[in-house]
Amino acid sequence: MSDTLPPLSGGCLCGRVRYAATPTHRDGYYCHCRMCQLAFGNTRAAFFNLRKDQVRWLNGPPAYYASSKIARRGFCGHCGTPLSFEFLDGENLDLSIGSLDDPGQLRPTEHFGVETRIAAWHGDDGLPGSRLDANAGIVQRWRTAYGEGAEPGLETVRQAGGTMAAPSPAKKDSA
Ligand SMILES: [Zn+2]
Ligand SMILES: [Zn+2]
Repeated sequence: MSDTLPPLSGGCLCGRVRYAATPTHRDGYYCHCRMCQLAFGNTRAAFFNLRKDQVRWLNGPPAYYASSKIARRGFCGHCGTPLSFEFLDGENLDLSIGSLDDPGQLRPTEHFGVETRIAAWHGDDGLPGSRLDANAGIVQRWRTAYGEGAEPGLETVRQAGGTMAAPSPAKKDSA
């Protein structure tokens, strides 16, 4: 039944990055976390989740950047379209709904990261919502990477010095 769904296709604005995706469902979700808001330059992100082996990058993989110590985001290195999100240690990834050739093939089913949802830009659609810090698996990933007691989210990333690799030790003023 669901295994017979036809593949989805998508890609970036300029057309350089293209993918084929074979999820076994048609469910998407909104993420309202601050990192997604910034990564998309928008009030929220819309994604669908599938296994990494259900995505085929047709012209080679997208460019990536580390949005935290535990995740990376794929985008077109030429036009900048946000394409994917994945935890480094996970077997799944998210693709952006807007990058689909036909985004209307999927339906939103829930809201995530509702603690930073922007009320003025959100109309109640009756869909269920959950908090980022209510997901035990995600909280554990953050604490393993950033330390016991670290709260998942943008502030933790920034307090740790951003998303780049740890800076080399500061040069001494010995000269
Ligand atoms: Zn592009
Ligand atoms: Zn998010």
